[in-house]
Amino acid sequence: MGAYSLAVLGGDGVGPEVTTEAVRALAAIGEQFGHRFQFHHARVGQAAIGSEGAAISPATMSLCQESDAVLFGAVGGTGVGDPNSPVQPEQALFALRRDLALFANLRPVRPLSALFGASAIKRDILRGTDLLVVRELTGGLYYGRPSEIRETSGHRAAVDTMAYDEAEITRVVRYAFELARARRRRLTSVDKANVLSCSRLWRQITQEIGSAYPDIELRHLLVDACAMNLIRQPREFDVIVTENMFGDMLTDEASMLAGSVGMLPSASLGDRRTAHGQFGLYEPIHGTAPDIAGQGKANPLGAILSAALLLRHSLSLEPEATAIEKAVQAVIRAGYRTTDIATPGGTTISTAAMGERVAQAIRAAVAGEQPMKKSQS
Ligand code: NAD
Repeated sequence: MGAYSLAVLGGDGVGPEVTTEAVRALAAIGEQFGHRFQFHHARVGQAAIGSEGAAISPATMSLCQESDAVLFGAVGGTGVGDPNSPVQPEQALFALRRDLALFANLRPVRPLSALFGASAIKRDILRGTDLLVVRELTGGLYYGRPSEIRETSGHRAAVDTMAYDEAEITRVVRYAFELARARRRRLTSVDKANVLSCSRLWRQITQEIGSAYPDIELRHLLVDACAMNLIRQPREFDVIVTENMFGDMLTDEASMLAGSVGMLPSASLGDRRTAHGQFGLYEPIHGTAPDIAGQGKANPLGAILSAALLLRHSLSLEPEATAIEKAVQAVIRAGYRTTDIATPGGTTISTAAMGERVAQAIRAAVAGEQPMKKSQS
């Protein structure tokens, strides 16, 4: 039995809806395994700008720093707020990643066979896909300065800056090599070394680090070729490591293998350890989905699977993490679907109903009950 302190930042749009369901899953785990989770809720994003004047307040940042892990929803455009204001909701996430030094973002992609029909990609291509994208999270274009629109001699121009230093590349690439060692020992480093200096340095350093990992098969791939191969032969990939923006885009593409962007979880990790494991922030890879917010249509499984990653990495509770993942599989096998992953013969249910099904499946599995009954459609 353990006691754990978790910061819960639902954010904007569908963020709070899906985070509620991740908390529900954790509460079910707590009941069944005898753990005490203390959930500390705070506002971030547009919700915080409205009430606290900043996308994330110093008090919320401290709360995160003092917690064992952070469960995050999404922040961003909900149609409220001024798009030209210097204070934007997305700043909350960028500040969290930077201030908590969360440089490695792990995004596993393992399509469930029961959801092959929900993907636009053919079954034969999906079969056997099990890959992990390691996205660098605190460098590159998203953090480089200057980044601004300028008015020069009567016309507008804009500049963004991509910058990486050796230490930033080394720590994330080394981390990816270690992860590959615990998997199928194949690492693909993705860059744009034919054009970008940052990518040339990335490739050089990756090659150098690779000499210390003779047991890992390393290959370099240009990001455009990677985008193509991800949907042409996804099973060829094991671990992919790449810089911030490439990782952001490639994983939205990779989410289509799993059927929906609502299916993919993520773990953002750094070097810091707590008494229980590696400190981290856990969030589904999707955004605030303003088009479906407030309608009970959001798929909460990416958020729920992020809670499983939280248990695994930050609390070192492997059986509990597996219990969540198995519960999600059982609910999908039983035919329950949210709108985004609806398949013929399945039963379409709401965000909250999906979260309740997963919580029930956790309780049933731990109590040794019958597997979940097939849905009646
Ligand atoms: P999005 O991920 O919010 O939505 C893209 C599409 O996917 C939409 O059609 C949406 O309905 C669908 N979708 C997303 N999540 C879903 C879910 N859980 N279930 C079912 N369908 C889902 O991306 P966007 O529309 O480009 O961005 C909207 C806002 O979110 C922007 O302001 C952006 O900056 C922000 N954003 C935030 C994060 C984050 O907080 N980590 C990540 C990406 C985008």
